[in-house]
Amino acid sequence: GDFPIDLDTIVIGSGPGGYVAAIHAAELGQKVAVVEKEDTLGGICLNVGCIPSKAIIQVSHNYRTSLDNEDQGIKANVDLDFGKVQAFKQSVVKRMTNGVAYLFKKNKIDVLRGTAYIKDEHNIRVMNDDHAQTYTFKNLIIATGSHPIEIPGFKFGGRVIDSTGALALDKLPKKLVLIGGGYIGCELASAYANFGTEVTIIEGTDRILRNYDKELTAPVLKNFKNKGIKVVTNAMAKSANDKGDSVDVTYEVNGKAETINADYVLVSVGRKPNTQNIGLEQVGIKTDKRGLIPVDAAGKTAVDHIYAIGDIVAGPALAHKASYEGKIAAEAIAGQPSVVDYHAIPAVCYVDPEVASTGLTPEEAKEQGLDVKTAKFPFTANGRAVSMKATEGFARLVFLKDTGVLVGAQIVGADASNMIAELTLAIESGNTVDDLALTIHPHPSLSEILMDAADVGLGMPTNI
Ligand code: FAD
Repeated sequence: GDFPIDLDTIVIGSGPGGYVAAIHAAELGQKVAVVEKEDTLGGICLNVGCIPSKAIIQVSHNYRTSLDNEDQGIKANVDLDFGKVQAFKQSVVKRMTNGVAYLFKKNKIDVLRGTAYIKDEHNIRVMNDDHAQTYTFKNLIIATGSHPIEIPGFKFGGRVIDSTGALALDKLPKKLVLIGGGYIGCELASAYANFGTEVTIIEGTDRILRNYDKELTAPVLKNFKNKGIKVVTNAMAKSANDKGDSVDVTYEVNGKAETINADYVLVSVGRKPNTQNIGLEQVGIKTDKRGLIPVDAAGKTAVDHIYAIGDIVAGPALAHKASYEGKIAAEAIAGQPSVVDYHAIPAVCYVDPEVASTGLTPEEAKEQGLDVKTAKFPFTANGRAVSMKATEGFARLVFLKDTGVLVGAQIVGADASNMIAELTLAIESGNTVDDLALTIHPHPSLSEILMDAADVGLGMPTNI
């Protein structure tokens, strides 16, 4: 029989939104269970997103730089075994997803295997191959994530792949066509180009990586060019003809049709929230025209005790944003007055060199009517960067003209992903350029670039 099983809080989805929400709720004293339809925990991020992509990107970087060290006195015979690259990537994924299982156990969180469907305001059904079971909740957190968008003429399957397929290729492709120059596609394109794959990017608008301004992406475009990536802009992808052992991709530029042949075509044109067929209509939760669930500042939906977090709500579809919302929702459920504060969400694109942004760009600040100044400092004037052969790029601070309060920052350069964290904390803490300039930074380190940029902002540059 299907006797309902009682729980305080049920979380649907074990991605970076769901698993963090579940652990935080358990730590705050709730009896929690997480529903997951996949065999492993961790969602897109740990299984087929952030983590595996960064493993492959890192190996591709190691490979490429190992070919180019003669000026440092290293001459090596380098061999690439792509099967082992994949095995390494998978070992990283396994370790991280097992980690989530361990954390659930530690926090006495039950995993309910199967697909969740919301029955009514206090019950969900979890269905798997052999049975269905009803669970009763006081609070529900929906964290079902997103999936890749398919476009006409490019049905996924065979030689037409999405990011998941691109992360799982067992052989290194000789030629790869990427449709869509967003951050996910560009990261993969960059990694494959590092391994020696001939990459062509077909982009519909006039430039790739549009989330970042032109000045920031300039070093990346230069790097793409150096490693032979071909970028075709203002191009409409028309169709893919899967020939079994390769694929013909047809696109149109200036009304002229072009066809290129490749081993695979990777379609990466964005992701869609998983908000269909989960029973939202049973409880009267409506989605907006993009399929996102409207929520208040605590993550609460139109139903008082049902929350939604991560890729299914507005804002950048990023893992750390999902986790942050998970913590806030868990605290709200526990009765704390927690609300989200989005004024400094870092975003990173892991190409060569890395691009990172947090808070406001100079344009966004101006659009908001803020009177801001910017200050820049180049990697080439930093001793650690020179020793690392990482002289491309710069850091840019955006701060209020009258008070010096930091409102945004951008970095393009080696390790931008790690360095942007300091600036995110600075913005979060209401720090000024003065605070940054007078914070003692370790020497020699790339982090000094941030202190040096602050010196520039104060009109008293030291190292440039
Ligand atoms: P997800 O991680 O999508 O998890 C949702 C989970 O819910 C899944 O496990 C799914 O199986 C489960 N689920 C869905 N419906 C049901 C149901 N009805 N019943 C039971 N279970 C269900 N972000 C970054 O911040 N940094 C990066 O470097 C980065 N790299 C990326 C690289 C790639 C290739 C991709 C595809 C994405 C990347 N992202 C990155 C984005 C990041 O993965 C997502 O923003 C993040 O995973 C969203 O988390 P989530 O918890 O909302 O959902």
